[in-house]
Amino acid sequence: MDCLFCKIIKGEIPAKLIYRDDYVVAFDDINPQAPHHKLIVPLKHIDTLNALHIEDNELIGHMMQTAKMLAKNLNIDEEGYRVVMNCNAGAGQTVFHIHLHLLGGRQMIWPPG
Ligand code: AMP
Ligand code: ZN
Repeated sequence: MDCLFCKIIKGEIPAKLIYRDDYVVAFDDINPQAPHHKLIVPLKHIDTLNALHIEDNELIGHMMQTAKMLAKNLNIDEEGYRVVMNCNAGAGQTVFHIHLHLLGGRQMIWPPG
């Protein structure tokens, strides 16, 4: 499958990995939008949030727990951070393998653009 994040998971494309377990990897976004910008990506390929099944509930929960853990490790948990998943092109999704953006280290604005 021609998927950028599957290739990163398999080690075929380099990335600055900061975390890996049996379910997810996390690495630096190549085009950071904040001083801290990490991507939390499930090992399982799922195109978009629309393709999520009930049996993926534990996986999604684990992705959020990973975001929480990384935010604490980065020491941005108290000042604040943002976790975002874009679904489809209209929301800005460009890589069609679901992922959480973890953004922090600056003041966030609302609503996002
Ligand atoms: P999205 O637009 O929500 O699909 O997010 C995709 C993210 O992947 C963007 O923030 C990109 O900067 C990031 N990205 C694209 N290619 C790479 C790469 N090779 N390594 C790390 N991050 C990447
Ligand atoms: Zn993939």
